[in-house]
Amino acid sequence: MTGPPTLSSGPSRRLGVRAALVDGELVPGDVVVAGAGVLEVGAGPAGEAGVAVPGFLDLHINGLVGVDFLSTDLDGYRAASVALAATGVTGYLPTFITSPLADYDDALAVALRAAADAPGTGGARVLGVHLEGPYLSPRWPGAHDAALLRRPDVDEALALCEGGLVKMVTLAPELDGGLDLVSALVARDIVVSCGHSDADAATAGAAFDRGARAITHLYNAHRRWAPRDPGVGGAALVRPGVTVQAIVDHVHLAPEAAYAAFLTARDRFSLVTDAMEAAGQGDGTYRLGRRAVEVHGGRAELSEGLLAGSVLTMDQAVRNLVGCGASLADAVGAATAAPARLLGDPGLGILRPGARANITVLDDDLRVVRTLVDGAEQFAVTA
Ligand code: ZN
Repeated sequence: MTGPPTLSSGPSRRLGVRAALVDGELVPGDVVVAGAGVLEVGAGPAGEAGVAVPGFLDLHINGLVGVDFLSTDLDGYRAASVALAATGVTGYLPTFITSPLADYDDALAVALRAAADAPGTGGARVLGVHLEGPYLSPRWPGAHDAALLRRPDVDEALALCEGGLVKMVTLAPELDGGLDLVSALVARDIVVSCGHSDADAATAGAAFDRGARAITHLYNAHRRWAPRDPGVGGAALVRPGVTVQAIVDHVHLAPEAAYAAFLTARDRFSLVTDAMEAAGQGDGTYRLGRRAVEVHGGRAELSEGLLAGSVLTMDQAVRNLVGCGASLADAVGAATAAPARLLGDPGLGILRPGARANITVLDDDLRVVRTLVDGAEQFAVTA
């Protein structure tokens, strides 16, 4: 298969893989990249090892490797982006938890500079920002500081999103003015995800009618599912077009709960890490926004025992979902096609001739051995 070489100027090179995952199908043969684009898949002769898959996307990540996106500088972003490439991630939305309004300006300014970094120069790309809050339910604050939560205010929210960098907002639609805020954000092409919410199924349905298109970390920090009151989680699971975002670290969700949600939502099921700065580090004390978080044995908790983000990486999430019973194609789809569709960018989450060469190569154990961002190698396992 060859395609239009629109992105593919420059000498071509082979990845040396034995197959590629193309639109959910395993295509035997090598992958040829030229410039920033994919020139060919299924090229003969096939390489010896590895499967090329689309680069992973993470739409909910607060930080990793000692970097907290709310408070870091451009160097911090670069270190985080390089570390993300080593986990197979080629694009992400740094995510800001609820903060004093004044803190957002500085954090957004740094993120804007990180997003403007030249393609292929520093690991995974910043695709925009995800604001998780501040319009969340005081009943379900999770690790957010309840004193900083705000009532929905369209003008205030639009001012926060003014620079065009905010691509996703998590909010609680049942709050006073919540549904109007959904409409206002959707009208500006900002993805609205319901989360930290006490919405019942009917209110969630109303939010989806207004254009909300996702739920944030299913079964965490929202009204609990019950047979006669399935809440926003139950509503999202069965709603066509609504993406179910889940932290499959086996801490936030039991494997059975994660797999049941995947079986229900299928191609609407999207993996997120919700990682915080301790990801890729050891146990210890860390920050999430302005709060102290203790990490021990894979759990990140506030002093009162509430979960506060994860130490999950996206490649581990993919392996975990496969371990639950999903196929490789479906698990990779949950880290690529599903978040790409939610973000609404048809150029993301795909690997085929003519596409941007955002590629992750996995070995037989689904470990990341190589990552390309816009055709440039950003990670490779050295022998
Ligand atoms: Zn959260």
